[in-house]
Amino acid sequence: MSLVVIGSIALDNIETPFGKVEKIVGGATPFACLAASYFYDQVKVIGIIGGDFPKLELTFWEEHNIDIEGIQIAEDRKNFFWSGKYHNDMNNRDTLETGLNVLENFDPIIPASYQDCEYLLLANLTPTTQQAAIDRLTNRPKLIVLDTMNFWMDIALDDLLSTLKSVDVLTINDAEARQLSGEYSLVKAAKKILQMGPKYLIIKKGEHGALLFGEDQIFSAPALPLADVFDPTGAGDTFAGGFIGYLAKVGTINFPNMKNAIIFGSALASFCVENFGTEKLKNLTQEEIASRVQEFVQLSNFQL
Ligand code: AMP
Repeated sequence: MSLVVIGSIALDNIETPFGKVEKIVGGATPFACLAASYFYDQVKVIGIIGGDFPKLELTFWEEHNIDIEGIQIAEDRKNFFWSGKYHNDMNNRDTLETGLNVLENFDPIIPASYQDCEYLLLANLTPTTQQAAIDRLTNRPKLIVLDTMNFWMDIALDDLLSTLKSVDVLTINDAEARQLSGEYSLVKAAKKILQMGPKYLIIKKGEHGALLFGEDQIFSAPALPLADVFDPTGAGDTFAGGFIGYLAKVGTINFPNMKNAIIFGSALASFCVENFGTEKLKNLTQEEIASRVQEFVQLSNFQL
């Protein structure tokens, strides 16, 4: 049985108050698959890269036990490119450029060995491509998690609404929840979004944590107050990868396990923001992760 991740694989230009980097590996998939690989050893990736993407990175994923058979290489085309700038309030960023390039007409191929997919993460990507991945799996996975962003709400809302009907969990940030629902109150927004298809909704609130809605319950997870946030890029994707990786490890989908999965996802995301790109996610130890999770437990633990 496996956990399949499909999403963007990018080259990013990022500017934060702490520095500037060009053409570093980013995109939803690298963050998500690295995060998931700390919990589950059958992570398989579907995606497309252009000729300018550093192939060494793929070797590195393989060393992390990540199956890359589903990655297509378009040697004569440019990789997906994204450029963003953060200001002092790193909860907000401006997208300076999105170059879809190879993503524009990406037609995902699911290798036969991926048909054992039990957990599917539809990381940030064109909604029609996310839908194609669902349709091309012979059996419906036990759990489908979809992550998306305002970009797709702006240019492909109908496709997104259609794909949402097929998923179990949607993860978006607070601004996107407001955009998707037309409601300012996150409680009202969640009620509307849960009528669009997903059984569970996770609203990410950056440095203010995350909310889980579902089964007529709400869970509020804190974010770890960090002294140094270097680059928030990919925190949401890391969160999603850690979340589904943890659920794949425990194997039972219910609200209490989802609460824990949110804490594990948040712990991984807290590492991600401590360096540019995927750097910090490359060499974590289980001890470091366990100790970070304990910090989360202590943070909001109180007794009446
Ligand atoms: P996050 O900070 O979790 O929202 O993820 C940031 C990553 O998403 C960056 O590495 C970008 O390359 C990638 N990204 C930005 N825009 C898009 C898009 N429209 N579709 C897919 N991935 C994107």
